[in-house]
Amino acid sequence: MARFLVTGGAGYVGSHLVRALVARGDEVVVLDSLRQGHRGAIPAGVELVHAELADRRRVAEVFAAWKFEAVFHFAALSLVGESMREPLRYCVENTANSLSLADAAVQAGVRKFVFSSTAALFGMPKVVPIAEDADLAPASAYGESKLMVEKGLFWADQVHGLRSACLRYFNAAGADAAGGIGEDHDPETHLIPLCIGAALGTRPALTVFGTDYATPDGTCIRDYVHVSDLASAHLAVLPLLEERSLRYNLGNGAGYSVKQVIDSVERIGGRPVPHSFGPRRAGDPAVLVAASDALRRETGWQPRFPALDDIVRTAWAWHEAHPRGYGDR
Ligand code: UDP
Repeated sequence: MARFLVTGGAGYVGSHLVRALVARGDEVVVLDSLRQGHRGAIPAGVELVHAELADRRRVAEVFAAWKFEAVFHFAALSLVGESMREPLRYCVENTANSLSLADAAVQAGVRKFVFSSTAALFGMPKVVPIAEDADLAPASAYGESKLMVEKGLFWADQVHGLRSACLRYFNAAGADAAGGIGEDHDPETHLIPLCIGAALGTRPALTVFGTDYATPDGTCIRDYVHVSDLASAHLAVLPLLEERSLRYNLGNGAGYSVKQVIDSVERIGGRPVPHSFGPRRAGDPAVLVAASDALRRETGWQPRFPALDDIVRTAWAWHEAHPRGYGDR
């Protein structure tokens, strides 16, 4: 049994990792501002430190109070559109706060740091599936804010020996198959919860952003990866961090279009997804699909839910059972 710090552990992806750690018998401390996270997402027996990452004194107190095997750092702003209105906020909250967290980890003698990075590092990719060594050219302040963290972590390894795993998530989706936790953002901007909400009548009709992309059906293609598979990847990289730092793409390697997602939700839910067709959303690449071969090969990671219908089935179950999410807003 080991003890881990999970920042953003009350949030969507973080809470799924917390559940996986608890299932292994590990001890978990969550640090979360609860701005996007939910108290109800944290299982009994897990300590919650309700604090801002920017509060360096509180963060230092956390490292003084407990000794951690590793830090899993999820807490972040994550909206591309918002980052283009408030780029400096993303630099402060994502870049500066992440690197001061890493600094606190180094000061406390923690040797392993797992960082939620993003496919947005690649901007408008020239080649898909996107390889691990593809050009890093963020097309948004959000992507840049995460890339700057990766660069800081590189130097923290060179100088201090802080081993880091930067996991570049593609499209997180779905919910724990055991129920009880799932996706609850405010505002919600992601395709699958918006489709399901439209079908359930808890949200307005969906607008499809663009039908004139160079894809077979004209709508954007994304690589949807189940949130529990994202979580298991975080566990899979830990042993390798004994040796070296890591950078991996984290996706299924298969792409689905917006229309295919709508079809899947209609198939699984047995109800139509009311929708209309609108213009493109600024900054959306036509196709974002990961080549995750390196992660699979080097860690043995395998997704349990590679099929879109299986991902949607778990998301549908969560939203149907929790039409108001955690109900704490
Ligand atoms: N999308 C859409 N309508 C919406 C929200 C999203 O057509 O109301 C599309 C979006 O343009 C993208 C895909 O769905 O092609 C996935 O978007 P999401 O925001 O879920 O994730 P992103 O790929 O932006 O991280």
